[in-house]
Amino acid sequence: MTADVLGYDEALAAFDPVLGLEVHVELNTASKMFCGCANAFGGEPNTQTCPVCLGLPGSLPVVNATAIESAIRIGLALNCQIADWCRFARKNYFYPDMTKDFQTSQYDEPIAFDGWVDLDVDGETFRIEIERAHMEEDAGKLVHVGGSTGRIGGAEYSLVDYNRAGTPLVEIVTRPITGTGAKAPQVAKAYVSFLRDLMLSLGVSDVRMEQGSLRCDANVSLMPRGATQFGLRTETKNVNSLRSVERALTYEIQRQAAVLSGGGKVHQETRHWHEDGGYTTPGRSKEQAEDYRYFPEPDLVPVAPSREWVEQLRGTLPELPAVRRARLQGEWGFTDLELQDAVNAGALDVIEATVAAGASAQAARKWWLTELARRANEAGVELGELAITPEQVAQVQALVDAGTVNDKLARQVIEGVLAGEGSPADVVAGRGLAVVSDDGALSAAVDAAIAANPDVAQRIREGKLQAAGALIGAVMKDLRGQADAARVRELVLARLA
Ligand SMILES: [Zn+2]
Repeated sequence: MTADVLGYDEALAAFDPVLGLEVHVELNTASKMFCGCANAFGGEPNTQTCPVCLGLPGSLPVVNATAIESAIRIGLALNCQIADWCRFARKNYFYPDMTKDFQTSQYDEPIAFDGWVDLDVDGETFRIEIERAHMEEDAGKLVHVGGSTGRIGGAEYSLVDYNRAGTPLVEIVTRPITGTGAKAPQVAKAYVSFLRDLMLSLGVSDVRMEQGSLRCDANVSLMPRGATQFGLRTETKNVNSLRSVERALTYEIQRQAAVLSGGGKVHQETRHWHEDGGYTTPGRSKEQAEDYRYFPEPDLVPVAPSREWVEQLRGTLPELPAVRRARLQGEWGFTDLELQDAVNAGALDVIEATVAAGASAQAARKWWLTELARRANEAGVELGELAITPEQVAQVQALVDAGTVNDKLARQVIEGVLAGEGSPADVVAGRGLAVVSDDGALSAAVDAAIAANPDVAQRIREGKLQAAGALIGAVMKDLRGQADAARVRELVLARLA
């Protein structure tokens, strides 16, 4: 099935990629875009429908105000202009998963337009220009039965579930992205990742790519190096993870380069990404806008957000992810690498909460990125899903700072908390983990160690202080690790030096 591909470096030596990214975000409003049906994933098929989202004759849609609010906030967060006045349009097409046979969308009057975002990729900044962010509704979902792949090819019959029909969507479309060179796939991945973080911080979508609530159609074309006229592009669909965005574009660049180098022509078409095989196959040839015979939706009133409302919504924007990272890095004194590790581990929220609960940033970082990251990894969960709270992690560190436990014992305290044995203090009490810091008990253990190792003791008396390690080790072993090693060393040297 795989077409010939050119080596990536060879492809990039001959061609410049031009990207275009269309990202669909399903909004998490309680109801659908134009009716009161529940907007929820995973219901029994065709249980969340009504005459409006089934497109029955005589039904009249009404716009969901919360969806408009979310679309405006998304537009503002992407530095877009917000339209004073805009309309919905009918996008006509034969949709087997849309009974109306048109999609209610926006065409030449998007709610938000002319925005931009800056992305940092490996220390290089790329500005992505946003052409538009418009509102539309999702279609239903076809389920192909009887084939091995779940695709229509080979299926015996197909069923349709209209629960998703009418789900509010915002589609964010970039202008052509040039100048990314060999980093094009990485830039695309960074952009989708940025949008995911942004939507989460805005609280407008749950952005689960695997459930389709964030979907990316990745357009790419190639032009010979030094050329200024764009080549014909393909649009790869079904890209449902961040990693797939990067892989699918890498593949498409290599495939198109092979076609062009061989004297062939790239067809303007949609293509499907096959996650398992790591390749794309052709879908339908790409429609032009005129094929859709757009016209203004006569059943909906125009959307005309007042400037006061827009400014009020601007005031609700959260601190944006890049701004927050820069602020936290400053507050915590993290190096770039430390910050990047925390971001990659999804640990910013838990570190921030642990610091708020009284721990130092470095201590919070240490626990979440080592011991707790390891345990989350073993359990296959996110850090925030572990059965220990940031407050409890701060309490563990407070026990270390107070000398009640050492690092090794602290790990056992964490183990106890995760096992449901109560708070860190409960675990220390329950497991008898507190370090022995009372000099009487320590002195007895030191005396026993000296008596048991007379030759070591003699070497220390002769000034070979490095030999003290053996005695300290013996004391720690005697006290099952529950001793303050620095205090033990003091006592050993006080006796012998
Ligand atoms: Zn409905």
